[in-house]
Amino acid sequence: KFKRPATTASAAYSTGGGGGCTCTSKKLEGKVALITGGASGLGKATAGEFLRHGARVVIADLDAETGVKAAKELGSAAEFVRCDVTVEADIAEAVEMTVERYGKLDVMYNNAGIVGPMSPASISELDMMEFERVMRINVFGVVSGIKHAAKFMIPARSGCILCTSSVAGVTGGLAPHSYTISKFTIPGIVKSMASELCEHGVRINCISPSAVATPLTLRYLQKVFPKVTEEKLRESVKGMGELKGAECEEADVAKAALYLASNDGKYVTGHNLVVDGGMTAFKIAGF
Ligand code: NAD
Repeated sequence: KFKRPATTASAAYSTGGGGGCTCTSKKLEGKVALITGGASGLGKATAGEFLRHGARVVIADLDAETGVKAAKELGSAAEFVRCDVTVEADIAEAVEMTVERYGKLDVMYNNAGIVGPMSPASISELDMMEFERVMRINVFGVVSGIKHAAKFMIPARSGCILCTSSVAGVTGGLAPHSYTISKFTIPGIVKSMASELCEHGVRINCISPSAVATPLTLRYLQKVFPKVTEEKLRESVKGMGELKGAECEEADVAKAALYLASNDGKYVTGHNLVVDGGMTAFKIAGF
């Protein structure tokens, strides 16, 4: 069912399909990517990785100050657009602006997310307004991003959509309920969309990282352990994977995104790529 675009020299790096030579190290040459939550953490690292591989990258983020700074730091092939993923018109505008400016959208990475409130621990105390806020950013924002990217990718018969889930969306009990629930939905969204989009040569996948010491993780840990220093919290994050001698770094997630976005991942769709050093395998195995 998956429709391959014609294999030509220029389609050799098609994110939607294609084939042919992959003998250059620039895996996203000529590609255009839009990354939500790209001002910080995993999104920013992925923007950097995509740029190193020849892409032009639009960072769409709520935080204009950090976003402008990040785009400047990343260089002239990066630019910033302010976007609140909970506002559908913002996403639509960010996508339209990207297509107007660069003539296309090859990669849409729906990455923006928050952990949300730490308490209460019990479902019986859950603040439904807070639950809705987390769902609006982590779920509504993702679906909205897919919807607006698909409007351009379906007629183009090419494109790659990425979303960020989490190990918290693979096993329960690692994070607050709202976050866990929101992240469990992501692989489901990906499966649902992949079944439609594969007909049009558009791929969609998600990545489920384990803890990386980004501002999101550090803010979360600071709330749980207010008396522990940032240095110690960073150290504790390092020990979370099970792969001995390795820790999950921003670059590990960025490289997973590069694989899925590039021609290397041209036959992969509907997949949840877990990047966790064996953490969930270990937990699921119950040791
Ligand atoms: P981060 O806080 O460093 O970056 C998240 C970015 O999203 C920020 O720049 C923030 O301004 C932006 N953002 C927040 N709300 C937004 C909104 N409404 N509209 C637009 N942008 C918004 O966090 P991170 O660790 O890089 O997290 C990125 C994604 O990875 C999130 O979806 C997170 O749940 C997921 N994740 C992170 C980890 C981790 O350990 N860091 C692990 C698994 C999954």
